Amino acid sequence: MHISAKIIDSIERSSWIRRMFEQGVKLKLRLGEEGVFDFSLGNPDLNPPEEFYSVLRGIIEDQSPGVHGYMPNAGFPDSRESIAKRVSLDHEIHIDGEHVIITCGAAGGLNIILKTILNPGEEVIVPKPYFAEYGFYIDNHQGRMILVDTEEDFSLNIEKIDKSITNKTKAILINSPNNPTGIVYSEDEIRELSGLLESYARKNRIIYLISDEPYREIVYDGIKVPSILKQYAHSIVVSSFSKTFSIPGERIGYIAVNPSSVECDMLMSGLILSNRILGFVNAPALMQRVVVQICDLSIDVDVYKSRRELLVNGLQEAGYEFTKPGGTFYLFCRSPISDDIKFVEHLQKYNILVVPGSGFGGPGYFRISFCVSEEVIRRALPKFKEAIDSIRR
Ligand code: PLP
Repeated sequence: MHISAKIIDSIERSSWIRRMFEQGVKLKLRLGEEGVFDFSLGNPDLNPPEEFYSVLRGIIEDQSPGVHGYMPNAGFPDSRESIAKRVSLDHEIHIDGEHVIITCGAAGGLNIILKTILNPGEEVIVPKPYFAEYGFYIDNHQGRMILVDTEEDFSLNIEKIDKSITNKTKAILINSPNNPTGIVYSEDEIRELSGLLESYARKNRIIYLISDEPYREIVYDGIKVPSILKQYAHSIVVSSFSKTFSIPGERIGYIAVNPSSVECDMLMSGLILSNRILGFVNAPALMQRVVVQICDLSIDVDVYKSRRELLVNGLQEAGYEFTKPGGTFYLFCRSPISDDIKFVEHLQKYNILVVPGSGFGGPGYFRISFCVSEEVIRRALPKFKEAIDSIRR
């Protein structure tokens, strides 16, 4: 093999969603699109808000010099300001544009943060189950991911987090609303976690709290996602418009840094440099100009809400067990047999594609993504029932 052994290993380890995707392509070729119930991908299927198109059309018409040129590495000042206003509103604290950096999605943002803060061998604590790409992102910057168990209902276990802190711990990375569980951490959990980190900070041991929040707007039942920026000084929020505008292919997101964080100016300078040197060189100009005008909008979450109801009721009736998701478009379901991979393969016999929990550090579960129409869910539910009935027989 002429490519890196590490990459070969990573290809193997990252293969669950890819395998499902390939399986889906094969099944769809054989059975047609209609014949396959593909719940594997977290690729939003709703249209962006109407205003997205009109604003985009207006910008495309603009032929002023420099419109498509390079920009300051932190992003266009007016885009940063506009996002800062949105963040200030959502988090109920005041943030200026100078503490915002526009990034190539949340993925770009996370890589920028990790590149900026990590020395080789330093540790990032991640509660399980988790978005599988974190392992690669942390490794990209020579860090070590330290996975920590959560409670039965996937809420944070602060004691376990505390126990996993070592003198190499640089950050704790949380994701709420969570992919894959759909769980939203409560105000109390965030307060407790912040209190723990605060107790370390008082002893001069600064641990960053990073919150990855691309699903912040996709919440149900009046839930509001608690803010880490309000609770803890050394905090960094990373988010994107991928899910809230249904534009993941456009690669636009942002980082918001708590102005009270330690050596904040240095941190900002590092982040801005990292935004330049990781290869993607800032976020796309076109999208920066779009979001400046519409960053207070969101897609219609009610569409996901009705799908969630349909799925939750149908799966419950069929005998599946899960914690009802408070946000995201994912449902993390307990596998009726302990081997989630076997059950996922069993579901494929019913032309249902889902992702095994093992791929997210959550064995014994599987993830259903409801980025599919109600019609698909309706047709799939009897198949889910047949699948569980047959495995129990
Ligand atoms: N973080 C989580 C938890 C995600 O689920 C995703 C995408 O699915 C990302 C980050 C990456 O988002 P983006 O498309 O904004 O880079």
